[in-house]
Amino acid sequence: LWQETLEQLEKHLTPQHYNTWIKPIRLVSIDKDLVRLEVPNRFIYSWIRDNYADLIQETISTIGAVSYQLQIDIAPLQQKKGETELPVQQQPAEPVRAKTVGKNPGVYNLNKKYTFDEFVSGSSNQFAYAAARAVATNPATTYNPLFIYGGVGLGKTHLINAIGNAILQNNPEMRICYYTSEKFMNELINSLRYAKMDEFRNKFRSMDVLLIDDVQFIAGKERTQEEFFHTFNSLYESHKQIVVTSDKFPKEIPGLEERLRSRFEWGLIADIQAPDVETKQAILKIKAEQNGIDLPENVTFFLANSISSNVRELEGYLIRIGAYASLTATPITLAMAKEVLKNILVEKRREISIEEIQKTVAAHYGIKVSDLKSSKRLKALVLPRQVAMYISRQLTPCSYPEIGDKFGGKDHSTIIHAIKKIEAKMAEDMQLSASVGSIRAALES
Ligand code: ADP
Ligand code: MG
Repeated sequence: LWQETLEQLEKHLTPQHYNTWIKPIRLVSIDKDLVRLEVPNRFIYSWIRDNYADLIQETISTIGAVSYQLQIDIAPLQQKKGETELPVQQQPAEPVRAKTVGKNPGVYNLNKKYTFDEFVSGSSNQFAYAAARAVATNPATTYNPLFIYGGVGLGKTHLINAIGNAILQNNPEMRICYYTSEKFMNELINSLRYAKMDEFRNKFRSMDVLLIDDVQFIAGKERTQEEFFHTFNSLYESHKQIVVTSDKFPKEIPGLEERLRSRFEWGLIADIQAPDVETKQAILKIKAEQNGIDLPENVTFFLANSISSNVRELEGYLIRIGAYASLTATPITLAMAKEVLKNILVEKRREISIEEIQKTVAAHYGIKVSDLKSSKRLKALVLPRQVAMYISRQLTPCSYPEIGDKFGGKDHSTIIHAIKKIEAKMAEDMQLSASVGSIRAALES
């Protein structure tokens, strides 16, 4: 069972992530529905707890057809005083599952670790940050709904949780729930199956603040959109705050119902762009401090400059360097950081191909790869095609004719024209530059 789980995980994760985080896990025992795992150190422990515990639990539960609980311990050799009691306890999956935070029984799933204090605001996210702050200070009276969008790992989940945490701090009695749209859907499905729809509706419609993360996942899911639509209306009409995040601008989410899209546009739409180098440095400093990692200035600078714009990845590399330093009991130096990340940095650059770019761009715009390669002149195809050409030039070493080849044998002048067009457009079209940013972030992550 564990072997099979590992195989599944390996399929889902990049080799680097799998090797760094999953491989070191040791299975201790499986006893009824309790799976005990052991990891070599505190870094891996906290990383797994925050990033992979759910995935592991879901994977093993699916394979074993039992809803397992996970307990993760740190292996005795590495254990320092006071770190023995850190089991990750998962609630068994019940038809309707609610995890409460603190004493207020009306707070669901908020992640306390994501606060405004720990969010670095820079030019890339200033707008979204300010809007989030405003909403947190005056829920339901400023921007409603607040729609935050941006690429993978750029801080959407952090920001939406920070809103909830700040509201809760000022209004301890408020009912606040944080749900990913997938979780919303799963709960809906369970409620339908167990004939508990009243309970489901009452729960969501009694919220003061509804935070829905990654709403793009409900696109194409008819029943979920329907239910979410009614929840939205009910809350909106009673002047409750709604915050939604997505990896795309509402108009660009394929399969999203028109009526939901238009509602998302009723309030404020704010984007998060890839962070600049200074912001990345500031984020690294905060994260290093949080994780007790002593990060020299030159290493901070090196990381901020050489690694993709995806903050989650940046954090991953920081933790990896921290883990290495802790395991070898040596201080972090630039040479060490380069050594630890050597393979990753090389692999990352080599990895991106035009095919991959075409796939990602097509998925972003909800069109077919073949349409990117075609010469159809529909507006809905021309822009994505030009974007794909532009990104191909940015992220691969291919020449104009080589790019032209991959786009159904187009002339190099067509490619040059497309790139110029996109460059000019991006300068004045925020939505476009955000799209390009989020596609790049997805490719570089
Ligand atoms: P997203 O939901 O957009 O994919 P997350 O909110 O999960 O991204 O962010 C990924 C990681 O990066 C989190 O650990 C988060 O704390 C961190 N992060 C992202 N942006 C910032 C920021 N501006 N300041 C501090 N941490 C950040
Ligand atoms: Mg997220």
